[in-house]
Amino acid sequence: MQIPIAKPFIGEEEKQAVVQVLSSGQLSQGPKVAEFESAFAAQHGAKHGIATSNGTTALMAAIMAHDIGPGDEVIIPSFSFFATASCVLSTGARPVFADIDPATFNLSPEAAEAAITPKTKAIMPVHLYGQPADMPRFEAICKKHGLVLLEDAAQAHLSHINGRHVGTWGTTGFSFYPTKNMTTTEGGMVLTNDDETARKLRMIRAQGMNTQYYHEVVGYNFRMTDMAAAVGLVQLGRLPEWTAKRQANAAYFDELLTSVRTPYTKPGHTHVYHQYTVRVPDGVDRDAVAKRLNERGIGVRVYYPLPIHRQPVFQQMGGYENLHLPETEKATAQVFSLPIYPALTEEERDYIVQEINAAC
Ligand SMILES: *Cc1c(COP(=O)(O)O)cnc(C)c1O
Repeated sequence: MQIPIAKPFIGEEEKQAVVQVLSSGQLSQGPKVAEFESAFAAQHGAKHGIATSNGTTALMAAIMAHDIGPGDEVIIPSFSFFATASCVLSTGARPVFADIDPATFNLSPEAAEAAITPKTKAIMPVHLYGQPADMPRFEAICKKHGLVLLEDAAQAHLSHINGRHVGTWGTTGFSFYPTKNMTTTEGGMVLTNDDETARKLRMIRAQGMNTQYYHEVVGYNFRMTDMAAAVGLVQLGRLPEWTAKRQANAAYFDELLTSVRTPYTKPGHTHVYHQYTVRVPDGVDRDAVAKRLNERGIGVRVYYPLPIHRQPVFQQMGGYENLHLPETEKATAQVFSLPIYPALTEEERDYIVQEINAAC
């Protein structure tokens, strides 16, 4: 058996939707983008959606829309995909890393609050692997200290806390990269409930223009194409069913995996399992287990093997050499993720359970 870590699905409807756009002559940001923005925002209960070229530019635009830049600090987790930090760096602001809660792998509210300095402008938790971070706590901390709340929801489409979706607490970036829970090929989206932030985001996305050829601010070309949006509209329709399948696969693994620690979900939080990430017991060589499973045809992967603050680029930058985040460093040595995609068959699930229980 060969089971990949992810299996993006593109059906006939997506293909037809793209051909229709190509025939319409409206190729870049047009009516399909507007339709996709409204539909995605509505599904999350957010007021505004601003589509972008990818998740990284969505996060950059979110940070810039709050006038955060050189001299400012943004608190983020170090246990995430590198783009969580690069989008902060791209604005000229300084990423400040805080440790995670070892149970959920998400940014710890206590650690984030302890990292606040007079230069701090924002906190940006990541809803890692598809589980919402503790947003009520982060909202209270940001209110108390007068900070902007941002969300990196690149992995967490439709996840929620007691019915309130991610993307409705702060200014939020999503990604539609092929391996995410839904795709537009490349693409991203910012959600916000604030009218003025939405107006700024629309300008930043398209050359700083408010009225055509009148440039109010320095903007960029972060536009999504109508082809991408047409794919996204079809995929958004499939997303609730796909999410339920991911959750059913997770419930199956939760019950049957005995050799590793299965994911913990906080009460009231709905996990959408972008990744199903387990931890090997203390003393077990994670890399050897992952290698053995790969050899047995199971595409397990390590997300993420090196904390962001320990990446060469940060070590060379200065100021991060002595930073020690014990829970982040421990997690990077113990976790691996297994195939959880919606199209996983029963036979594949059984094989995964059997092999993982035998592997450590
Ligand atoms: C995928 C991802 C991004 C970046 O999204 P792209 O669409 O690849 O630019 C940012 N943050 C996290 C946590 C991600 O997983």
